[in-house]
Amino acid sequence: MTKLICQRIMLKLSGEALMSETGGNIDPAIVKRLATEVKDLCDAGVEVGLVIGGGNILRGAEQAAEGLNRVTGDQMGMLATVMNALAMQDSLEFLGQPVRVMSALKINQVCEDYIRRKAVRHLEKGRVVIFAAGTGNPFFTTDTAASLRAIEIDAHLMIKATKVRGIYSADPEKVADAVFYPALTYDEALDQRLNVMDTTALVLCRDNDLPMRVMNIFEPGAIMRLMQGEDIGSLIER
Ligand code: UDP
Repeated sequence: MTKLICQRIMLKLSGEALMSETGGNIDPAIVKRLATEVKDLCDAGVEVGLVIGGGNILRGAEQAAEGLNRVTGDQMGMLATVMNALAMQDSLEFLGQPVRVMSALKINQVCEDYIRRKAVRHLEKGRVVIFAAGTGNPFFTTDTAASLRAIEIDAHLMIKATKVRGIYSADPEKVADAVFYPALTYDEALDQRLNVMDTTALVLCRDNDLPMRVMNIFEPGAIMRLMQGEDIGSLIER
């Protein structure tokens, strides 16, 4: 078996990654494709923590802009992440991959509560852990939740999924001469306000020395190739 660059990873997908091209919130075929990628990693011995956002269903700030109380909106957003987590759990289980959803909000009839030591035990046993309901607090994002949980479970690498190759000086889909950055520091990403993750998430990773790969995970097998040592996407380090 090819040597892996590290053992335990945190994979952050935005909720939009699950959307169908025609606008459906959760496309089962896309969820299955992503679940297959995750299962392949587990089969190769990678321990995978997963955070899926909720933006395909609802974002608290957008609800607040429409007049809803922000805290209520954020609670709805966190519940949206639970729905995405359940869809992914189902798909992984269908493929025969053991998996647990652990929620930062208590919904014990639907999934487990997040307890750090239990989460680590699941990972050690080869189960995927999907961390749902963000941090459990309003005014945060699932990027921050992914950074927080990654640090808590001692993940060696954060992988932030994007639709493009990695980090650019500007949106490559809008700016033709946008420059691709293969590697940069957290301070550079923060200073240049590069649209990678929110500031809280980046600062958490920087201060806790957690490296991050920003990469296109829709390219089949890309994460596996990264784990086997290929230089893919953009690397952010302290
Ligand atoms: N959210 C929250 N606290 C958290 C994480 C998420 O209140 O710790 C809410 C917030 O309203 C957010 C929504 O859940 O807009 C969905 O998460 P996010 O926007 O991060 O999803 P993504 O953009 O990654 O799909």
